[in-house]
Amino acid sequence: MGKGDLFVMTGASGVGKGTLRARLMERVRLYYSISMTTRPPREGERHGIDYWFVDEATFERTKQEGGFLEYARYVEHSYGTPKAPVERALARGEDVLLEIEVQGALQVAEKVPEAQLIFVIPPSLSELRRRLLLRGKDSLEKIEKRLERAREELQMAERFHYVVVNDVLESAVADLERIILTRRRIVKRMRPALERALERDPDLEAELDEIAARMRRR
Ligand code: 5GP
Repeated sequence: MGKGDLFVMTGASGVGKGTLRARLMERVRLYYSISMTTRPPREGERHGIDYWFVDEATFERTKQEGGFLEYARYVEHSYGTPKAPVERALARGEDVLLEIEVQGALQVAEKVPEAQLIFVIPPSLSELRRRLLLRGKDSLEKIEKRLERAREELQMAERFHYVVVNDVLESAVADLERIILTRRRIVKRMRPALERALERDPDLEAELDEIAARMRRR
């Protein structure tokens, strides 16, 4: 799709993807794709930073125009990844991070086979329930729906390339960072370094020729 790599991070609501993403982006350069959603903003969320908050009609229109790389329904709302910004960032050679749910991740895998799919899991479903309750952002009924969805999603992890357990935040961030940095060392990404390795520097070569000549005379 472009010179950069596409990383897709998926994991249940409440597993800590948002925090992981923020910490990860302090450590590695990534282009974060801001999703479009019909969900109303939660307290503290900002339009154009956390999401593009739109109405159903706008979402539908974008869908009809083929403007999404992927989209899905999640619990009661629609979510989608605007295609153009992702394509542009990849073309510039930037690595792109999507933070989306399972169905969307699998759509991306179909369209972009080289995309790297990372599944973030909680240490256990009980721990996830604890986090959702403590976060206190959703109603009890919504929490139960999200837990049920998390259980279903965990069974899809086999379709991903990597699994990161978010138990201790710092080690989960380090895991993510290693995955991304490792991808930057695949041969395709190292072509400029390979080309440079084959070059010869005339000034340095001249000096080395002199040294070699001196050694020969000894
Ligand atoms: P939340 O409402 O908690 O912000 O997000 C609910 C779920 O939707 C999360 O699992 C989140 O990763 C996912 N999500 C956010 N943006 C997108 C998107 O653009 N596409 C898809 N498929 N899922 C998304």
